[in-house]
Amino acid sequence: MIKIIHKECPLCGGKELQPLFSCKDHFATGEEFAVCKCSDCTFTFTQGVPEENEIGRYYESPTYISHSDTNKGFVNRCYHIVRNIMLRRKAALVNSLVYGDKNRLLDYGAGTGYFARAMQARGWDVTAIEKSEQARNYSKENFDFEMFPVEVLEQCETGCFDVVTMWHVMEHIQNLNEFWEELYRILDDEGIAVIALPNSASYDAQTYRENWAAYDVPRHLWHFSPSTVMKFGRKHGFILERQYTMPFDGFYISMLSERYKGSTMSALRGAFCGLLGWMASWNKKSASSSIIYVFRKAR
Ligand SMILES: [Zn+2]
Repeated sequence: MIKIIHKECPLCGGKELQPLFSCKDHFATGEEFAVCKCSDCTFTFTQGVPEENEIGRYYESPTYISHSDTNKGFVNRCYHIVRNIMLRRKAALVNSLVYGDKNRLLDYGAGTGYFARAMQARGWDVTAIEKSEQARNYSKENFDFEMFPVEVLEQCETGCFDVVTMWHVMEHIQNLNEFWEELYRILDDEGIAVIALPNSASYDAQTYRENWAAYDVPRHLWHFSPSTVMKFGRKHGFILERQYTMPFDGFYISMLSERYKGSTMSALRGAFCGLLGWMASWNKKSASSSIIYVFRKAR
């Protein structure tokens, strides 16, 4: 298997890459992957990830909750309640960012199309792109909602979207700089990118270190912090306008991290850490486990 070893930082080109620790793939294979950090700009990423056409098997697990619509079990029920609350919050946020008749939305990495369909129901002209053929078929069969494969992105016309949303997607994208360039191209001059990401500078990331569940190697290739996301945006012609915390993610990630650590009473311990992280994020957004970043094109 061909693995990708970065010799220089994808953000600043720095060559001094400092190994942080090795993380285990708790989700699918149990394999270990090194996480390293650029000494110049602090951008953090996974080393030795499989190439695009070989990474598929790392997504195969019977417990892949994002693509499951089952309501069985306590955790799944909680997941669905939280998902509904977050859906309303995300929709309200996107609605608040645009004025007038701007309604062309691309949801990139749409999963089973849950958010995309909700926005269509709210009057948006929605295009949904999703890499997984299984998820696209699921959406078509169950909701008669068509989603497109990622290859469609380069066929999109220049400036054809008012808003692009990416909910926990960018950390999975292999050609990161090219993707930011495409994002700039497809957005209207007044367009907005809404990008939700796990935060590797968060309270829970610092607490759990290599056991932090949102490292999620090798599926998560890049481990952004508020400072490195802002630098990526600036590099590609965007300005970071606003940041919003995502209060529930810290609880879920902390509980999962405790389980990975092998703790007893992992749910309780995780909930406690989630609570501390949430409280820390009141004063300091950069303590939040996940953050929604709103970018606009620089003038
Ligand atoms: Zn760097």
